[in-house]
Amino acid sequence: MGNCYPVGLTIEESIEKILEVTGQMGTETVFPLEAHGRIVAEDISAPENMPPFAKSAYDGYAFRAEDIAEAGKDSPVTLQVLEEVPAGHFPTKKVGPGQASRVMTGAPLPEGADTIEKFEVTEVGDGTVTFFAPVKCSSNVIPIGDNLKKGEIVLRKGTRITASSCGLLAELGIEKVPVYKKIRVSLISTGDELVEVGEELEPGKIRNSSVYTLNAYLESWGIRPSIRGIVRDQAELIADAVKHEVPKADVIITTGGVSVGDYDCLQDAMEMLDAEVIGWKLKMKPGMAFLASRYKGTLILSLSGNPTAALMQLLMVGRPVLGKLAGEEMVMGRPFDVRLKNAFPKKSKVRRFVPGKLEIIDGVAYIDVPERQGNGMLKPLEGCDILGEIPSGSPALEAGTEICAYRLYMLF
Ligand code: AMP
Ligand code: MG
Repeated sequence: MGNCYPVGLTIEESIEKILEVTGQMGTETVFPLEAHGRIVAEDISAPENMPPFAKSAYDGYAFRAEDIAEAGKDSPVTLQVLEEVPAGHFPTKKVGPGQASRVMTGAPLPEGADTIEKFEVTEVGDGTVTFFAPVKCSSNVIPIGDNLKKGEIVLRKGTRITASSCGLLAELGIEKVPVYKKIRVSLISTGDELVEVGEELEPGKIRNSSVYTLNAYLESWGIRPSIRGIVRDQAELIADAVKHEVPKADVIITTGGVSVGDYDCLQDAMEMLDAEVIGWKLKMKPGMAFLASRYKGTLILSLSGNPTAALMQLLMVGRPVLGKLAGEEMVMGRPFDVRLKNAFPKKSKVRRFVPGKLEIIDGVAYIDVPERQGNGMLKPLEGCDILGEIPSGSPALEAGTEICAYRLYMLF
């Protein structure tokens, strides 16, 4: 493994270093019904104008605007009605001078007509329709290509397919959507102290909770991880588990054992495997204990065992890295300014992330940070919807201090 890997990286440096040595997923095509949440692999443009014909925006009458240009309350104009055109049917008659066709919402504009007026302002006679006011030419006509112009780029490469994008793809008749393949992620929990949910909590043991939070976030990003379970604090066992997962995973996420304790054996395991270490330790709090490595083409992100620390690492480093691997262009939400609702008493030597609740008071955004927080505590995260960022080198902060924040809720 050698000793020449960087120690103590900023978030940005670690993302950059990891991305330097990792590739991007291949592509495949999926049906629009399976496309939700996937990342578009090539620009998708409109193969035709949408709508492909001019159509009526209302139930009404189609005619030539010039025919009723002189219409008024005291000088009504009556036109002869040729036919009725429901939506989904095509007009059979050309509208000439003095003529109109009855058209329903969505019906094509008949040839010869240039304008539509709603039923409500007309008077219907026996085979006739009477107007009491003129209408501007083209009124209530939805032109060809009003939604989308032929050749227009509708979905750009690297964007995530949302609910509305699924409908757009269907509107365009795109049956095979080019997307990046899903990332395969394996989760390995390391720690002698861990037991699974449902197992008895013997003295000295705690439950493997971190993996549940990490799994939920990954799922919210469209990744369904494979959960390997608990591996004890022995380098050989961890190396074995990694070896076992490598053929099945593009990314392995481990928790625990990356600090400097006697039983922190992730580094030893990587050395045993002769894996390439990309970097160790992050300049962030919580979440300093971190190791990024690569083995046989699989990226290994080793996070802290502490549930909150592991989550912060997944959000700040994992999310951008996984997003880029998956072909996504915009991976992090933009930060926005908030003020501390209460004083924050701790000094922050390194950059610190604090979960909190967004509150808008008199039009100003505040972050309400729970008083008791800890790397190992998940409870303070309940109800939190944003993550505040306290810059490195900050003293204790007064209430009202402006900091930046990110949305914390599931991103997708
Ligand atoms: P470590 O990163 O191994 O030094 O662990 C840091 C702290 O997190 C210790 O108190 C561990 O007991 C705890 N911990 C480690 N793994 C987990 C886990 N999967 N779920 C909950 N807590 C954990
Ligand atoms: Mg440990």
